[in-house]
Amino acid sequence: MKVVYPREQWCVACNLCEVACITEHSKTKDPLKAYLTEKPRPISRTRVEYKPPLAVSIMCRHCEEAECVEACKNGTLTRNEITGRIELNQDKCLGCWMCVMACPYGVISQFTKDDRPVANKCDLCPNREIPACVAVCPNRALVFEDRG
Ligand code: SF4
Ligand code: SF4
Repeated sequence: MKVVYPREQWCVACNLCEVACITEHSKTKDPLKAYLTEKPRPISRTRVEYKPPLAVSIMCRHCEEAECVEACKNGTLTRNEITGRIELNQDKCLGCWMCVMACPYGVISQFTKDDRPVANKCDLCPNREIPACVAVCPNRALVFEDRG
């Protein structure tokens, strides 16, 4: 299946992928409104790590052996048997952070939904053909590929 891979040699830490991710997951799909008026403010599901001279944008790999799914005991994180994607149902999340501790990539973040803490991670933009972060990256530092 296709997932997003970083190509760190091309990342310049512009953070546009984070802006695109926030906008894509906002109610208004407008970056200014998403940042300034939406409550709660959507948070990015990819994270740019920058330690000069290196930069990389990292997000969920939708692992074949998904340790987050193993760690989650109430079925919040599951594999979609049709698409292969690891899906997160925030309505079920208890905020226990077992998945956060289990993920070897450290890409599950914490979000506040309906005044309660829930887990948050990349969903590969299910309403788009190409994830927003990949589409926006000016340097092709993110690619959407099936590497078998
Ligand atoms: S959240 Fe972490 S462990 Fe779970 S599928 Fe994504 S990268 Fe793998
Ligand atoms: S694929 Fe979509 S959800 Fe995942 S980091 Fe990129 S923009 Fe965010």
